[in-house]
Amino acid sequence: MSTIILPPLPFDYDSLEPFISTQTLTFHHDKHHATYVNNVNNLKKDTEFEDKSLEEIIMNAKGGLFNNAAQVYNHTFYWNCLTPNETKISDSLKNNIEKEFESIDNFKKEFIASATSLFGSGWTWLVKKDDGSLAIINTSNADTPILHKLKPLMVCDVWEHAYYLDYQNARAKYLECFWAVINWEFVSQNFK
Ligand code: MN
Repeated sequence: MSTIILPPLPFDYDSLEPFISTQTLTFHHDKHHATYVNNVNNLKKDTEFEDKSLEEIIMNAKGGLFNNAAQVYNHTFYWNCLTPNETKISDSLKNNIEKEFESIDNFKKEFIASATSLFGSGWTWLVKKDDGSLAIINTSNADTPILHKLKPLMVCDVWEHAYYLDYQNARAKYLECFWAVINWEFVSQNFK
């Protein structure tokens, strides 16, 4: 059987301080993300999904296997949206954000408002729709845009485990700090 691998964190564990702590990244990647990977491998064993790709599992599996596979995908996408480096948004993504949300500032406001209003556990995304337009969406629990034929460009993990050690219940504070470490190069690449 093929094994789903936990990708390493694409930056040093201490490199997002003071925005996201070493402790949070260690638990979040090495425990939470790793557990989803282990669960997928255990759950797909001896099933029709044994040799399927992660995307194929997400598109076709149900229940625990879907939840764990989608969480693996969502977390890998989230890590790629973060960076300790200063990055620049592409002109074409910037223009399209301004077209859809008036300004980058207003996009930030709307993204954070959406993430703050998400009840319970989930994810807040910038997605590109079939017609090329942009939208901010929330998904609950493990739900993921690719299941709904939406192309993810950027995501913020708003499960409590993403911020509780650093910010306790202050989700809005975490979202402000998330904004400081966005990898705009990755987000811009996804828009292409
Ligand atoms: Mn998480």
